[in-house]
Amino acid sequence: IMCINNPPLRVSTSERGDYGDDRVINLDAGDPTMYETYWKKMGKKATMVIPGWRSMSYYSNGRSLCWFLEPDLCQQILRLHRVVGNAITEGRYIVVGNGSSQLILAALYALSSPESSEPTDVVSAVPYYSSYPSMCDYLKTALFKWGGDASKYEKEGSNYIEIVTSPNNPDGSLREPVVNRSGGKLLHDLAYYWPHYTSITAPADFDVALFTASKCTGHAGSRIGWALVKDPEIAMKMVKFIELNTIGVSKDSQLRAARMLSIVSDSCEQFGSTNVSDNRGESFYGFGHRLMTERWCRIRQAVKHGGMFTLPEFPTAYCTFLHQPTESRPAFAWLKCEDEEEDCAGLLRRHKILGRSGVSFGCSPQFVRVSMLDRDDNFDLLVQRISKITAAPNNSE
Ligand code: PMP
Repeated sequence: IMCINNPPLRVSTSERGDYGDDRVINLDAGDPTMYETYWKKMGKKATMVIPGWRSMSYYSNGRSLCWFLEPDLCQQILRLHRVVGNAITEGRYIVVGNGSSQLILAALYALSSPESSEPTDVVSAVPYYSSYPSMCDYLKTALFKWGGDASKYEKEGSNYIEIVTSPNNPDGSLREPVVNRSGGKLLHDLAYYWPHYTSITAPADFDVALFTASKCTGHAGSRIGWALVKDPEIAMKMVKFIELNTIGVSKDSQLRAARMLSIVSDSCEQFGSTNVSDNRGESFYGFGHRLMTERWCRIRQAVKHGGMFTLPEFPTAYCTFLHQPTESRPAFAWLKCEDEEEDCAGLLRRHKILGRSGVSFGCSPQFVRVSMLDRDDNFDLLVQRISKITAAPNNSE
């Protein structure tokens, strides 16, 4: 791939505030602020006014299994999956949650085996999303407990839940279950199964699949996630969990998320699914795909020099949404220091880049995860600083 755009630092001194080029850039979390530029361009279309009397009730739809799911959001979720083709929604119940974080806990609650004398083991293959272990264990529930790396799970005859994250956080790999034993239940975390990050190869068809507005439209602050659930009993238990936990999900947030999803679907229908950056405009995924392709090209160039770091390589697959073969462009760069002794997060920290150490993902400190979804000025600084490290590796203080 050619780097289409490799601009110098785009921020002016005044925009940089008091910190100048020397400021610390915090890329530890996957905060999706990159998408602000798209939503700014949407202006009034994406601006909502909610009258004071609206959505005051706890309830949204008393007749629906998920009684706190706003009908508008339900419709827009179904529409977006139809437009993108990334999930089967027929015969599924939709459960809305406060981010997919709450739905992970709701699903663990619903999938665990309360009649068993032992807590259900929750496993996921290394490198796993760093929040899974603490989410499982912080309340010390008797229902489930973190069981570690799925690829090393050997307990026979036990109940277990395997979380399959695909594309995976932190390394962007495409994944399938690894335990494959009877007595097991699967939880598919598909937060990143959208066309700006990876090829859409087939509609997801799983018992429980989780999605989130945080990574889909970038509206992490709205805290909206949703689950597509086959079994009504499981869906009902998840609804019960959310009822006990937060008595539903903010209607204001659901209405806003519904609007954002509808704009994304509109943009796909208006501009087609390919990324056209001419004057006709482009779809939301066209924008995301273009920006992520450019960012991955730039970070690969910065890393390539000197052989100090490596990044994962991704296979190319035909994307049924973009109608072209595409390579994954994950939301995180999973950097590996080739020097086995190196603490990669520590090395970046000395250069004022905050990432999350491989240790948090069940790996060695040789790895570090940095967000690829930050604002342009922070991403520019990341590339600039990595280039500086790789250009003078012995001068890495
Ligand atoms: N699952 C994965 C794999 C994630 O990366 C994240 C966010 N980093 C979440 C779930 C939770 O996202 P949210 O609660 O914002 O929906």
